Amino acid sequence: MTELHEGNGADRDRPSNLAKNEKLVWETLAVTGEPLKAYEILDKLKETGVRAPMTVYRALEGLESKGHIHKLDGLNSFVLCTHEGPHAVQTFLVCEGCSTVKELEVLAVEADITPAVRAANFDMHTARLEIKGTCISCAQTS
Ligand SMILES: [Zn+2]
Ligand SMILES: [Zn+2]
Repeated sequence: MTELHEGNGADRDRPSNLAKNEKLVWETLAVTGEPLKAYEILDKLKETGVRAPMTVYRALEGLESKGHIHKLDGLNSFVLCTHEGPHAVQTFLVCEGCSTVKELEVLAVEADITPAVRAANFDMHTARLEIKGTCISCAQTS
């Protein structure tokens, strides 16, 4: 077993409704504290005996449907949800300098999108807004 050390996101309580592999993937994302691609997660889990990409994909799918993680389409990566999930409308700040991602809770976005989508008779599953720009630490060093 790999020792998982406390990282950026590890101060949050692990959700209790996770399957074994979902738990492993969740902990990997919590300890890393930054977006990870599926193969990067697989790489980190190798020592725990997880070797099949399908195992990771299935765990990611499970975590996403339970609202514990989000997929960032632009980066093709996954991050832990930092809010009380599940929530359909997701907003992220993506730094183009250092690739850090911060989830932002913008209630106005959700409040505006939800009725408009409903009025169009569309059944929304997710809406992701990736706001690209420069984070404060990149802004200070450039
Ligand atoms: Zn979230
Ligand atoms: Zn940055």
